[in-house]
Amino acid sequence: MTTAIYWFRNDLRLSDNPAFTSACNDSKFLLPIYIHHTNLEGVNRPNYPQVSKQRRDFLEESLQDLKGQLKALGSDLYELTGDYLEVFQNLREQLSTNVIYCEQIEIQQELDQVVNLHEAGFEIKSIWQSSMIDPRSLPFKLQDMPGVFTQFRLLVEKHKLKFTAPLNSPLLVSPLPKVGGFFKQPTTLGASIGDKLFYGGERKAQAHIDQYFERRLVDTYKKTRNELIGTDYSSKFSPWLALGCCSARTIAKKLTEYELQFGSNEGTYWLWFELLWRDYFRFLAFKNASDQNHTYYLSKEMGDKPRDELNVELNSVTFKRWSMGNTGDSFVDAGMRELLSTGYLSNRMRQVVASYWIYNLKGNWEVGAAWFRSQLLDFDVYSNQGNWQYIAGKGSDHQGGRQFNIAKQTQDHDPNGVYRNIWLTK
Ligand SMILES: Cc1cc2nc3c(=O)[nH]c(=O)nc-3n(C[C@H](O)[C@H](O)[C@H](O)COP(=O)(O)OP(=O)(O)OC[C@H]3O[C@@H](n4cnc5c(N)ncnc54)[C@H](O)[C@@H]3O)c2cc1C
Repeated sequence: MTTAIYWFRNDLRLSDNPAFTSACNDSKFLLPIYIHHTNLEGVNRPNYPQVSKQRRDFLEESLQDLKGQLKALGSDLYELTGDYLEVFQNLREQLSTNVIYCEQIEIQQELDQVVNLHEAGFEIKSIWQSSMIDPRSLPFKLQDMPGVFTQFRLLVEKHKLKFTAPLNSPLLVSPLPKVGGFFKQPTTLGASIGDKLFYGGERKAQAHIDQYFERRLVDTYKKTRNELIGTDYSSKFSPWLALGCCSARTIAKKLTEYELQFGSNEGTYWLWFELLWRDYFRFLAFKNASDQNHTYYLSKEMGDKPRDELNVELNSVTFKRWSMGNTGDSFVDAGMRELLSTGYLSNRMRQVVASYWIYNLKGNWEVGAAWFRSQLLDFDVYSNQGNWQYIAGKGSDHQGGRQFNIAKQTQDHDPNGVYRNIWLTK
């Protein structure tokens, strides 16, 4: 029993957080922290556009909620800003501990952080916990991950894997160690109350999931998931999943309980199916992270072009028109304006605008992905990269890329222009 630091990363919750629960069980004193990194950009990657205000608010709301929950359990959350190595070195001096617990993230930058901390003498205990299915229960080694989603799904279904049981929140959190003046307290939130759809935090996530199942929206999920307007056509779980305000396992358990009560149907199956896509992109990251040649977030397929060229493209007139919703194609522009104004976009419109960027405007997919990264409330490196690669024909399950016929998409999904009217007249 010792003093330890818990480093919250993309797991801003107490329930079903095995890494945090282990830290509580193993330590006498525990300091929960979150680091606002100042040095995260990869040297070979484009200069990412600034993260949107909506996204920063959602993060701050999530941190505030976590802080509130920890305080209720006699602990607290400390937000620190700076280079992670310096942050931990300072903490080591103050707390005389080199033990850090955190969730495992299979992305190069985050893996490098763990390696660098090890090399600096820290003992890091990182636990994988962001997928619906525990990768250790898969019927194959992660290096042998099928390159095609359907093959992966069939194997998962053949072995009757649905999800891994989630953990409850810890009842007790180890008390805080004595801390000095090094800590910066969280800034107070700006005005975030208003007419917006997504509020960050574990308790908001739980309330959103509960109402989704109580209103039985899942029954119609398969029928409505390609719609574009309103809040109920798809689950809208993604922003909370992205920051780990809820776990995929908790949602899958809820889904299974729902099926036991009301019976399974195509809607319940399809929601699980989409969550499995999320797992698929995560598990591919394990496979790709063991590849020495990867250059972008995860894999060697990324990074076709040098950083300078990508930066030129990020500053080009074509990119500005696309990202601001001024391409002249009304359907694409409506989608890009929805993204800009809300930080969210339906899966259908993500496919349409990504295809338009890659195939109509001949843009580099990494630049498009960088824009999504800066704007999406639900930005998740695994899913963002996986889907962009899929459309660009660069990932493993690319099937030669997917070009969407924009005129046909417009006709199929917005025949009367209602969606376009909403976003082009704002
Ligand atoms: C170009 C492009 C970029 C994308 N970038 C992201 C991203 O950064 N973060 C992100 O979470 N999703 C991303 N997606 C996937 C998908 O569009 C969103 O997960 C979905 O629209 C979120 O809304 P929802 O929660 O209502 O989804 P629902 O349709 O209700 O699906 C339920 C959950 O299943 C998962 N899911 C659904 N579709 C996919 C998919 N295609 N790939 C992976 N997981 C999926 C998500 O976790 C989602 O919350 C991207 C898709 C495209 C085409």
